[in-house]
Amino acid sequence: MPITNLYIIATPIGNLEDITLRALRVLKEVDLVLCEDTRHTKRLLDKYEIKVETMSYHQHSKIGKIDKIVQLIQSGKNLALVSDAGTPAISDPGNMLVKYLVENKIEVHIVPIPGPSAVISALCVSGFPTDNFVFLGFVPHKKGRQTFFKKIAEQKQTVVFYESPHRILKALDSMQEFLPEKEIVVCRELTKVYESIYRGKAEDIKKILTTDNQAKGEFVVITH
Ligand code: SAM
Repeated sequence: MPITNLYIIATPIGNLEDITLRALRVLKEVDLVLCEDTRHTKRLLDKYEIKVETMSYHQHSKIGKIDKIVQLIQSGKNLALVSDAGTPAISDPGNMLVKYLVENKIEVHIVPIPGPSAVISALCVSGFPTDNFVFLGFVPHKKGRQTFFKKIAEQKQTVVFYESPHRILKALDSMQEFLPEKEIVVCRELTKVYESIYRGKAEDIKKILTTDNQAKGEFVVITH
């Protein structure tokens, strides 16, 4: 039996027009699409009239789900993996699956279908040096939060990270404490209706977000 494919397909981070022609073709051709949230992905599939079977694969999926995916691969099915936003496996559960397949030497071609990613979308509008940057994923929730910001204060490179709307003001508090003089860019709701890009020191951005009640939505933070 020929080796099958697992396509890692980047999908929009908000604006449904941000999807490549190749991504749309492959989504039409595969046997099954693994989604973080099938209802969320269905909106994209419906927009492009793609009728394909979907199956959920998310951060709470049990190891049994991975076994099932391996069985599908071994029975000759071509699969696609998408996440709720952007490039799967970049700070999201897709990484667990790819890691498992690689570490267990499962015979499958893992094929990237590039496209949007929040980290790159934010970096390209930051105006900071982008030839040498560090991406730190999500800020730790509790343990390690202080150390996280202290380390950023020592960095010479551009630093990018993700933060949830519930903790963005707390993150800006910590940045004001540990890196008050660093320039910061906060990108909110990129590619969506309320896309906003805030530039300044932590204190200034915190004031704007608080005054305008803008600590809502999805955020990428960049410092230099
Ligand atoms: N794999 C995704 C990627 O390639 O960007 C990232 C997945 S991660 C689970 C989700 C985080 O990405 C959000 O919490 C937020 O920090 C960031 N994000 C996703 N969409 C965004 C958007 N439209 N604007 C700003 N940040 C976004």
